[in-house]
Amino acid sequence: MNLHKLILTNNACFKAGKTILPKGIMVHSTGANNPWLKRYVGPDDGLLGKNQYNNHWNQDKPGGRQVCVHAFIGKLADGSIATYQTLPWNHRGWHAGGTANNSHIGFEICEDGLTDASYFSAVYKEALELCVYLCKLYGFSDKDIICHSEGYKLGIASNHADVMHWFPKHGKNMGTFRADVKRLLSEENKPAESVKKKYYRVQIGAYSVKTNAEAQLAKAKKAGFTDAFIKYD
Ligand SMILES: [Zn+2]
Repeated sequence: MNLHKLILTNNACFKAGKTILPKGIMVHSTGANNPWLKRYVGPDDGLLGKNQYNNHWNQDKPGGRQVCVHAFIGKLADGSIATYQTLPWNHRGWHAGGTANNSHIGFEICEDGLTDASYFSAVYKEALELCVYLCKLYGFSDKDIICHSEGYKLGIASNHADVMHWFPKHGKNMGTFRADVKRLLSEENKPAESVKKKYYRVQIGAYSVKTNAEAQLAKAKKAGFTDAFIKYD
Protein backbone atom coordinates (compact mmCIF):
# COMPACT_ATOMS: atom_id res chain seq x y z
CA MET A 1 0.00 0.00 0.00
CA ASN A 2 1.20 3.46 -0.93
CA LEU A 3 -0.40 5.36 1.97
CA HIS A 4 -0.36 9.15 2.21
CA LYS A 5 -2.28 11.54 4.44
CA LEU A 6 -4.04 14.77 3.55
CA ILE A 7 -6.87 15.50 5.96
CA LEU A 8 -9.71 17.50 4.38
CA THR A 9 -9.78 20.10 7.14
CA ASN A 10 -11.93 22.58 5.17
CA ASN A 11 -14.73 20.04 4.65
CA ALA A 12 -17.82 20.64 6.82
CA CYS A 13 -17.67 16.96 7.83
CA PHE A 14 -14.23 17.41 9.35
CA LYS A 15 -15.33 20.65 11.01
CA ALA A 16 -18.35 18.86 12.54
CA GLY A 17 -15.74 17.10 14.69
CA LYS A 18 -17.75 13.97 15.57
CA THR A 19 -15.96 10.72 16.35
CA ILE A 20 -17.11 7.09 16.17
CA LEU A 21 -15.92 3.73 17.44
CA PRO A 22 -15.28 2.02 14.05
CA LYS A 23 -16.95 -1.39 13.74
CA GLY A 24 -16.27 -2.12 10.09
CA ILE A 25 -15.33 -0.85 6.65
CA MET A 26 -17.55 0.27 3.77
CA VAL A 27 -16.02 0.12 0.28
CA HIS A 28 -17.24 2.72 -2.24
CA SER A 29 -16.38 3.73 -5.75
CA THR A 30 -16.92 7.23 -7.05
CA GLY A 31 -19.41 6.64 -9.88
CA ALA A 32 -17.57 9.03 -12.22
CA ASN A 33 -14.96 8.38 -14.90
CA ASN A 34 -12.00 10.15 -13.29
CA PRO A 35 -9.22 7.99 -11.82
CA TRP A 36 -7.10 10.98 -10.70
CA LEU A 37 -6.84 11.55 -6.94
CA LYS A 38 -6.46 15.31 -7.53
CA ARG A 39 -10.16 15.40 -8.51
CA TYR A 40 -11.04 14.68 -4.85
CA VAL A 41 -7.92 15.33 -2.77
CA GLY A 42 -6.18 18.69 -2.56
CA PRO A 43 -4.48 21.06 -2.56
CA ASP A 44 -1.59 19.63 -4.59
CA ASP A 45 1.13 18.22 -2.34
CA GLY A 46 3.56 17.84 -5.24
CA LEU A 47 2.45 14.24 -5.92
CA LEU A 48 -1.27 14.67 -6.61
CA GLY A 49 -0.94 17.27 -9.34
CA LYS A 50 -2.97 20.44 -9.55
CA ASN A 51 -6.77 20.34 -9.81
CA GLN A 52 -7.34 23.10 -12.37
CA TYR A 53 -11.04 23.44 -11.45
CA ASN A 54 -10.23 23.55 -7.72
CA ASN A 55 -13.28 21.32 -7.13
CA HIS A 56 -11.61 18.78 -4.81
CA TRP A 57 -13.30 17.86 -1.53
CA ASN A 58 -11.14 20.00 0.75
CA GLN A 59 -13.87 22.64 0.88
CA ASP A 60 -16.98 23.17 2.99
CA LYS A 61 -19.53 21.38 0.76
CA PRO A 62 -17.96 19.91 -2.40
CA GLY A 63 -20.35 20.58 -5.30
CA GLY A 64 -22.89 21.80 -2.72
CA ARG A 65 -23.06 18.30 -1.17
CA GLN A 66 -22.39 17.17 2.39
CA VAL A 67 -19.89 14.43 1.59
CA CYS A 68 -16.61 13.20 3.00
CA VAL A 69 -14.85 9.84 3.27
CA HIS A 70 -11.90 8.51 5.23
CA ALA A 71 -9.73 7.72 2.21
CA PHE A 72 -9.45 7.73 -1.57
CA ILE A 73 -7.62 5.28 -3.82
CA GLY A 74 -6.63 6.41 -7.31
CA LYS A 75 -3.85 7.80 -9.50
CA LEU A 76 -1.14 10.27 -8.62
CA ALA A 77 0.03 12.77 -11.26
CA ASP A 78 2.73 10.29 -12.40
CA GLY A 79 0.12 7.59 -12.99
CA SER A 80 1.08 5.43 -9.99
CA ILE A 81 -1.57 4.19 -7.56
CA ALA A 82 -1.85 5.58 -4.03
CA THR A 83 -4.16 5.73 -1.02
CA TYR A 84 -4.82 9.09 0.62
CA GLN A 85 -6.24 9.15 4.13
CA THR A 86 -8.56 12.18 4.18
CA LEU A 87 -10.20 11.93 7.64
CA PRO A 88 -8.92 10.50 10.95
CA TRP A 89 -10.07 6.85 10.94
CA ASN A 90 -12.33 7.39 13.98
CA HIS A 91 -13.94 10.56 12.59
CA ARG A 92 -17.65 10.28 11.71
CA GLY A 93 -17.68 10.34 7.90
CA TRP A 94 -20.45 11.35 5.48
CA HIS A 95 -20.22 8.50 3.00
CA ALA A 96 -23.09 6.08 3.53
CA GLY A 97 -26.24 8.21 3.47
CA GLY A 98 -27.42 6.10 6.41
CA THR A 99 -26.57 4.86 9.89
CA ALA A 100 -23.36 3.20 8.64
CA ASN A 101 -21.82 6.65 9.06
CA ASN A 102 -21.95 5.94 12.81
CA SER A 103 -20.11 2.63 12.54
CA HIS A 104 -18.09 2.31 9.35
CA ILE A 105 -14.85 3.67 7.99
CA GLY A 106 -15.65 4.55 4.36
CA PHE A 107 -13.25 4.85 1.45
CA GLU A 108 -13.72 5.59 -2.24
CA ILE A 109 -11.95 3.93 -5.14
CA CYS A 110 -11.74 6.41 -8.03
CA GLU A 111 -13.48 4.89 -11.03
CA ASP A 112 -12.16 5.05 -14.56
CA GLY A 113 -14.18 3.89 -17.58
CA LEU A 114 -14.58 0.50 -15.75
CA THR A 115 -13.06 -1.51 -18.63
CA ASP A 116 -9.29 -1.18 -17.95
CA ALA A 117 -8.24 -4.49 -16.35
CA SER A 118 -4.78 -3.28 -15.29
CA TYR A 119 -6.14 -0.19 -13.50
CA PHE A 120 -8.79 -2.38 -11.84
CA SER A 121 -6.31 -4.96 -10.58
CA ALA A 122 -4.02 -2.23 -9.23
CA VAL A 123 -6.75 -0.43 -7.25
CA TYR A 124 -8.32 -3.75 -6.13
CA LYS A 125 -4.94 -4.74 -4.66
CA GLU A 126 -4.51 -1.32 -3.05
CA ALA A 127 -8.01 -1.59 -1.51
CA LEU A 128 -7.19 -5.06 -0.15
CA GLU A 129 -4.05 -3.74 1.49
CA LEU A 130 -5.91 -0.78 3.02
CA CYS A 131 -8.52 -3.17 4.45
CA VAL A 132 -5.85 -5.51 5.87
CA TYR A 133 -4.20 -2.47 7.48
CA LEU A 134 -7.50 -1.31 9.02
CA CYS A 135 -8.42 -4.86 10.12
CA LYS A 136 -5.17 -5.08 12.07
CA LEU A 137 -5.58 -1.56 13.45
CA TYR A 138 -9.12 -2.17 14.78
CA GLY A 139 -9.25 -5.97 15.13
CA PHE A 140 -11.76 -6.34 12.30
CA SER A 141 -12.15 -9.55 10.30
CA ASP A 142 -13.08 -9.93 6.63
CA LYS A 143 -16.71 -10.28 7.76
CA ASP A 144 -16.69 -6.64 8.92
CA ILE A 145 -16.19 -5.38 5.36
CA ILE A 146 -19.14 -4.47 3.13
CA CYS A 147 -19.64 -2.30 0.07
CA HIS A 148 -22.17 0.51 -0.31
CA SER A 149 -24.74 -1.62 -2.18
CA GLU A 150 -24.53 -4.30 0.53
CA GLY A 151 -25.05 -1.57 3.14
CA TYR A 152 -28.25 -0.57 1.31
CA LYS A 153 -29.51 -4.16 1.48
CA LEU A 154 -28.74 -4.17 5.21
CA GLY A 155 -30.72 -0.94 5.65
CA ILE A 156 -27.74 1.11 6.83
CA ALA A 157 -26.88 3.01 3.62
CA SER A 158 -28.55 4.83 0.74
CA ASN A 159 -29.52 3.11 -2.53
CA HIS A 160 -26.25 3.09 -4.48
CA ALA A 161 -24.83 0.33 -6.69
CA ASP A 162 -21.12 0.68 -5.83
CA VAL A 163 -19.01 -1.38 -6.01
CA MET A 164 -21.02 -4.26 -7.48
CA HIS A 165 -21.61 -2.45 -10.80
CA TRP A 166 -17.80 -2.59 -11.35
CA PHE A 167 -16.03 -5.51 -9.63
CA PRO A 168 -17.94 -8.26 -11.54
CA LYS A 169 -16.79 -6.76 -14.88
CA HIS A 170 -13.32 -8.01 -13.86
CA GLY A 171 -14.32 -11.33 -12.32
CA LYS A 172 -14.39 -10.03 -8.73
CA ASN A 173 -17.11 -9.27 -6.19
CA MET A 174 -17.36 -8.55 -2.46
CA GLY A 175 -17.14 -12.30 -1.78
CA THR A 176 -13.76 -12.58 -3.50
CA PHE A 177 -12.68 -9.33 -1.85
CA ARG A 178 -13.44 -10.61 1.66
CA ALA A 179 -11.81 -13.98 0.87
CA ASP A 180 -8.67 -12.15 -0.32
CA VAL A 181 -8.56 -10.04 2.87
CA LYS A 182 -8.97 -13.21 4.97
CA ARG A 183 -6.13 -14.94 3.09
CA LEU A 184 -3.81 -11.93 3.46
CA LEU A 185 -4.56 -11.65 7.20
CA SER A 186 -3.81 -15.36 7.75
CA GLU A 187 -0.63 -15.21 5.65
CA GLU A 188 0.67 -12.43 7.86
CA ASN A 189 0.17 -14.67 10.90
CA LYS A 190 2.06 -17.60 9.42
CA PRO A 191 5.69 -16.78 10.42
CA ALA A 192 4.74 -17.10 14.10
CA GLU A 193 3.39 -20.60 13.45
CA SER A 194 6.52 -21.83 11.66
CA VAL A 195 8.64 -20.83 14.69
CA LYS A 196 6.57 -23.24 16.77
CA LYS A 197 7.17 -26.13 14.34
CA LYS A 198 7.58 -29.48 16.11
CA TYR A 199 10.42 -31.96 15.45
CA TYR A 200 11.18 -35.56 16.37
CA ARG A 201 14.62 -35.42 18.01
CA VAL A 202 17.00 -38.33 18.70
CA GLN A 203 18.89 -38.32 21.97
CA ILE A 204 22.21 -40.19 22.31
CA GLY A 205 23.07 -39.51 25.96
CA ALA A 206 22.29 -37.66 29.19
CA TYR A 207 25.03 -36.40 31.53
CA SER A 208 25.12 -34.48 34.79
CA VAL A 209 28.69 -33.34 34.13
CA LYS A 210 29.04 -30.82 31.31
CA THR A 211 32.48 -31.98 30.10
CA ASN A 212 31.14 -35.52 29.62
CA ALA A 213 28.33 -34.15 27.48
CA GLU A 214 30.81 -32.12 25.45
CA ALA A 215 33.00 -35.19 24.90
CA GLN A 216 29.98 -37.16 23.63
CA LEU A 217 28.98 -34.25 21.34
CA ALA A 218 32.50 -34.16 19.85
CA LYS A 219 32.27 -37.90 19.21
CA ALA A 220 28.89 -37.54 17.51
CA LYS A 221 30.11 -34.73 15.28
CA LYS A 222 33.21 -36.67 14.35
CA ALA A 223 30.96 -39.58 13.37
CA GLY A 224 29.23 -37.27 10.86
CA PHE A 225 26.25 -36.02 12.91
CA THR A 226 27.26 -32.39 12.34
CA ASP A 227 23.83 -31.03 13.42
CA ALA A 228 24.23 -32.57 16.90
CA PHE A 229 23.81 -30.20 19.85
CA ILE A 230 23.62 -30.11 23.64
CA LYS A 231 20.38 -29.19 25.37
CA TYR A 232 20.42 -28.44 29.10
CA ASP A 233 17.18 -28.54 31.10
ZN1 LIG B 1 -20.89 4.77 -2.28
